[in-house]
Amino acid sequence: MHRFYGLSAFMRQRFGKRVRKIPLDAGFSCPNRDGTLSAAGCVFCNPEGSGSGMAARGLTLPEQWRFWRDIHVKKHGVAEFTGYLQSYTNTYGPIEKLRAVLGELAGLPGLTSLALGTRPDCLDDARLDLLARQKERLGLDAVFLELGLQTADNATLRHINRGHDAAAFADAARAGAERGLLVVAHVMAGLPGPRGREGGEALAATVDFLNGLPVHGVKFHNVYVCRGTRLAKWFGEGRYKPPTLDEYLAWLSGALARLDPRTVVHRLNGNPARGELLGPDWAGNMRRLHNRVRDHFEAHDVWQGKEHGAENGPSPWFDPEYEER
Ligand code: SF4
Repeated sequence: MHRFYGLSAFMRQRFGKRVRKIPLDAGFSCPNRDGTLSAAGCVFCNPEGSGSGMAARGLTLPEQWRFWRDIHVKKHGVAEFTGYLQSYTNTYGPIEKLRAVLGELAGLPGLTSLALGTRPDCLDDARLDLLARQKERLGLDAVFLELGLQTADNATLRHINRGHDAAAFADAARAGAERGLLVVAHVMAGLPGPRGREGGEALAATVDFLNGLPVHGVKFHNVYVCRGTRLAKWFGEGRYKPPTLDEYLAWLSGALARLDPRTVVHRLNGNPARGELLGPDWAGNMRRLHNRVRDHFEAHDVWQGKEHGAENGPSPWFDPEYEER
């Protein structure tokens, strides 16, 4: 049984395609790292900013594309890809930089959709218009605008040194959706807050917040502790304890049940880069984690929207083979 509306089901139904993602590092920076907002960054972020580091090693975007594409073609036999501008804040800096980066994507073999990650406070009308034009200009099926929210609780956002509030996310999500961009929210479970660590209630409240916005998709991440972060310091001092696997499974189940069944679920967990994880250990074993999530949903009869408009059972479009009439 399909218990949530996964990204692969959406891509298959809407575009008839099996697509994989290729991460791209365009060498952007972040205002929460370069001293503009702060030099410290979000407490969970290490100086690599979730990047592959390929830009720092001098690889151009077409070279990065070739590297990952060859691997995917050999390993998975897939020929169509979403280019994912993932590292740091991909709309930060002069708009000419963004224009040049998007220009480099033209003609990449097999590029059929684009995903771009950024902060909600680093978008204005000109940047949003530029992104919206890429669908036609690059002949893409879709452009996903991936916005970091992390939590809808402003006190926690301050505590983690996020540098923007939930209203900034809501404004950016509306502005992106108005232009036809498919907005994807990043949220995290288990963030440290001023009243202690966030849990299932905070995650559920964040999902309720997203349900009221034109958000097309969501990525759930469990908080884990990476080397080189402020969270690592708090972890070492015993001031922060990451969630256990059982806690995360319970929170995720509650959040999924509240999520609008039409929202596409892009991820159900975070994925630490090799060598960066300090804890918890369970966060580093992706295969085991995927199995545990699937088993937990089965054992507890969890499905997306169970408490939000889909009380009678999983929606038919959760099945990748579903055809809308
Ligand atoms: S906004 Fe993103 S890149 Fe910048 S410090 Fe926070 S997590 Fe890191």
